[in-house]
Amino acid sequence: MAVKKKSNTKEETAPTIGLVSLGCPKALVDSERILTQLRSEGYQLSPSYEGADAVIVNTCGFLDSAKKESLAAIGEAMAANGRVIVTGCMGAEPEQITKEYPKVLAVTGPQQYEEVMTAVHAAAPPVHDAYVDLVPPQGIKLTPRHYAYLKISEGCNNRCSFCIIPSLRGDLVSRPIIQVLAEAERLLKAGVKEILVISQDTSAYGIDSKYQAYPWKNRTIRTKFIDLCRELGELATANGAWVRLHYVYPYPHVDEVFSLMNEGKVLPYIDIPFQHASPAVLKNMRRPAHQEKTLERIHNWRKMCPDLTIRSTFIVGFPGETDEDFEFLLQWMQEAQLDRVGCFKYEPVKGAKANELAGAVPEEVKEERWHRFMQVQQGISAAKLKTKVGKTLPVIIDEMKDGVYIGRSSADAPEIDGVVHVTGKNLKQGDIVQVKITQSDEYDLFGKVVG
Ligand code: SF4
Repeated sequence: MAVKKKSNTKEETAPTIGLVSLGCPKALVDSERILTQLRSEGYQLSPSYEGADAVIVNTCGFLDSAKKESLAAIGEAMAANGRVIVTGCMGAEPEQITKEYPKVLAVTGPQQYEEVMTAVHAAAPPVHDAYVDLVPPQGIKLTPRHYAYLKISEGCNNRCSFCIIPSLRGDLVSRPIIQVLAEAERLLKAGVKEILVISQDTSAYGIDSKYQAYPWKNRTIRTKFIDLCRELGELATANGAWVRLHYVYPYPHVDEVFSLMNEGKVLPYIDIPFQHASPAVLKNMRRPAHQEKTLERIHNWRKMCPDLTIRSTFIVGFPGETDEDFEFLLQWMQEAQLDRVGCFKYEPVKGAKANELAGAVPEEVKEERWHRFMQVQQGISAAKLKTKVGKTLPVIIDEMKDGVYIGRSSADAPEIDGVVHVTGKNLKQGDIVQVKITQSDEYDLFGKVVG
């Protein structure tokens, strides 16, 4: 599709750039930064490969299947356009890309925004008088306007044996707290109603900068997990918005956040990737905080914050996982009664230490364990959701589908958790309404607006 040219506008000569964003929410935030930079320099964004002056592919290199998907996306862009700039996690190992696609214009690694822009300038020089005012102050979001991911740090100090993110993205680098809060303020001012805090390890925020302190609104605040949660909570509640925490590890200082949840400053929701429960598997996984007595911690958290929703992810079929380890995990799940759970079958990642471990689990065993795990969790989830029938919950409206509004309660993060099917009238995306729950199933709730 050729880009239409109109006369007498600066936009007519502005080069157009396409962007394909693959991978996790962190990669999505990188794409948003690139888009924001492109628009601030006057570039137009192309909805298709054809007609674009160049295409940026932001890749994911976390799992081999993600790498395959990234290579396929590069291939598609090469075939349809031919002027392709590759960035993102896979860009950390450029030879994997250039071996298959020697004609890509440039390959840059994750967060190398400047290098991406240098490659864009070389491929399609910007117009002189850039339209800086085309960029909304909050930047360009790929998420719907009513929620936004807020990335608080890059990289990770942990060395989980199945993960290559630290070798791709480096050690933890926290953004100064005032920078993060200024971004949150801009987002809220632009109408964002839910801020989703993301990083590789949210509770480690600020460790790298020794919790550097900054002046902020007549007081001093530290680049630290609890200060960040408190300040974000203040900003969000003043704007009638929600704050949700992702990728938190159960370090002891995390307990401090539950009082903010009880006060309604931060959603009573915590996303903790436990990955397993068996001490032997966790040790082999080299998980952070693997020696914590997590069941005890979970029970205490629930006492501290009775409305708490705990979401987690798990891996089954990790090398060396025995039948006993797996049964231990199932038993642990019954006791932990987590609210929201995702489960993956272990997949070796090139370059990961876990590949050197003995005891590979056969695919059919992984498959069987995954089904058993999901069955157990489905039962827990259905029973937990049933207890919500008859209650009235605040729900944020995401969209209208087949005549019914689709929203989420505090227990549901976008894209990964369940939803609330809402009957109501004249609701808008981003509205937060009170919904009386009338019905539940394994993953979702159903209800009608009250009040
Ligand atoms: S915490 Fe572990 S899994 Fe998560 S990014 Fe760091 S090393 Fe990878």
